Amino acid sequence: MTRTPPSARATTRRTRRLLVVGLTGVIAAITAALAYQATKSSPSSSLSASSARSLSSSPSPSSSPSLSSSPSSPSASSSPSSPSASSASSASSAASPPHTHRSEHRGALGKAGGVVPDGVTVFDDATPAVANLDPDLLMALRRAATAAADDGVEFYVNSGWRSPEYQNQLLREAVAKYGSEKEAARWVATAQTSPHVSGDAVDIGRSDATAWLSKHGAEYGLCQIYRNEPWHYELRADASDRDCPRMYADPTQDPRMQH
Ligand SMILES: [Zn+2]
Repeated sequence: MTRTPPSARATTRRTRRLLVVGLTGVIAAITAALAYQATKSSPSSSLSASSARSLSSSPSPSSSPSLSSSPSSPSASSSPSSPSASSASSASSAASPPHTHRSEHRGALGKAGGVVPDGVTVFDDATPAVANLDPDLLMALRRAATAAADDGVEFYVNSGWRSPEYQNQLLREAVAKYGSEKEAARWVATAQTSPHVSGDAVDIGRSDATAWLSKHGAEYGLCQIYRNEPWHYELRADASDRDCPRMYADPTQDPRMQH
């Protein structure tokens, strides 16, 4: 093993430190700019930080925050896992306080609580969000995914099973984002009522997968339940004989949510 002379090592270390400092500044600036943009472009959204987050984590930021920044699926799935990304998140939490919450809960709950790293598919047994799903739902998903693969479509899991703590965290974030519990209820259930907490629901991506499911899902008993959530699927075992039940406009119409 070759040893670097001390002087060279010191220089490298200094350069690296400079680089990190510089990078942190750039990231903070970008985060601030995005947050500002989000505030400007979506005056209705009460919490610009979360819009900024979804903008910054999405490769093709959509100008409308409505669907793309929904709290249910993307928030969990876009949690960064690489070291550079996590330094970015700590930089942004320094820049804007609302992010502090996020990184805290990512640490406290994390993958074991149902947070899904990027790129997880329905076949990933090592991810609790997938492994803790109802076995019948999981089997149906895998059968469907196997068939979809022949069409060149892969099923990614944006969210699956969630711990009650994680669900409550998502609900608190949604209330902050939408400004009221009533509005938040259109998107995020409580830990007592959420089918994600019981392992009976999965949020599937990407759009080619949800398009495939909306066409073929019923054959596998996989049904979209809410019209406003084209990614949210649950098992309705008798759908394969008949058809999926009529969708609710949104979760507030669902009798299961009336508690
Ligand atoms: Zn869902």
